[in-house]
Amino acid sequence: MIVDSHCHLDQIDLTPFNGDISEVINQAEEQGVAYMLCVCITMDNFPEVFNISSQYVNVFASLGVHPAEENTHDPSVEELIKHADHANVVAIGETGLDYFHCKGDVTWQQDRFRRHITAAKVLRKPLIIHTRDAREDTLKIMREENVQEVGGVMHCFTETWEMAEQAIDMGFYISFSGIVTFKNAKALQDVAKRVPLERMLIETDSPYLAPVPYRGKPNQPAYVRHVAEYIAELRGITFKEVAAATTKNFFDLFTHATAS
Ligand SMILES: [Zn+2]
Ligand SMILES: [Zn+2]
Repeated sequence: MIVDSHCHLDQIDLTPFNGDISEVINQAEEQGVAYMLCVCITMDNFPEVFNISSQYVNVFASLGVHPAEENTHDPSVEELIKHADHANVVAIGETGLDYFHCKGDVTWQQDRFRRHITAAKVLRKPLIIHTRDAREDTLKIMREENVQEVGGVMHCFTETWEMAEQAIDMGFYISFSGIVTFKNAKALQDVAKRVPLERMLIETDSPYLAPVPYRGKPNQPAYVRHVAEYIAELRGITFKEVAAATTKNFFDLFTHATAS
C-alpha cells in the first residue's frame, strides 16, 4: 500500500479517463495507491476539492491558496478556519512562498503565508508548505510563527539538505515528487538519500511533474509508485520498506485522516 500525499485531482484532464474521475482513482488503486490527498490551490477550487473528498473515502482534502496564485481571492484567517473546520479537510495548504513565479513586492505572499499558519494552529491541523526560490524567508516565517506547534510537510521538495534539516528540526516531513527521478536531479537525489525514512513522504503533485518514465506527460496518482520505486533503489532498500514508512508517516502527520 502507498499514499500519494499531494495531488490535484480537480486539475487532471479527464479526457483519457472517459471523463470520469473514478477511473483516475481506480488506476491508482490498481498500482497499490490506497489513499490520496487532494490539495487545494485557490478558494474557487475548494468546493470541487471538497466534493471529491466527500465522494471517495480514500481521498482527503486540504484548504489553502497557493503562493503563486496572485490574482485570486485572499482569504482571512476566519475564512480559512470556517471552510477547513471539517473532518475531510486534513491539512492547511498548499501555502508558503514562491519567489520564482512572483517578483517584486512579495509582502502579500508573506502575509498570506502567515494567515495560513495562524489558521492551522487554531484548527490544530498540519501545514502543506510550498517553497521555491525563497529558502531563507520561508524558514524565517516558519520559525517566527512557531510552525512546530502543528508540523507539516515541505511538499515537492527541491531545496538543499540544510533546508531539509532545518524543516525536520521544526517537526516537518520532506516530500519527494517525480522530480527526484529526473536525470539532472543529482543534488536532490542526495537529499533523498539523507532524509531519515521516518521523516519522508512521497507525492505526485499530479497533473504536473510526471516521474520517469512518463516525464513530460500528464501525471496521475498511480505514478507515485515510480517515485517510491526510485527512492527504494536510490537507498538500497525495498519498495515495501519505502511504502510502509511513507504510509505510516502520512497517517502520523495527517491525524485527521482516518484509514478506511
Ligand atoms: Zn506546490
Ligand atoms: Zn501542488
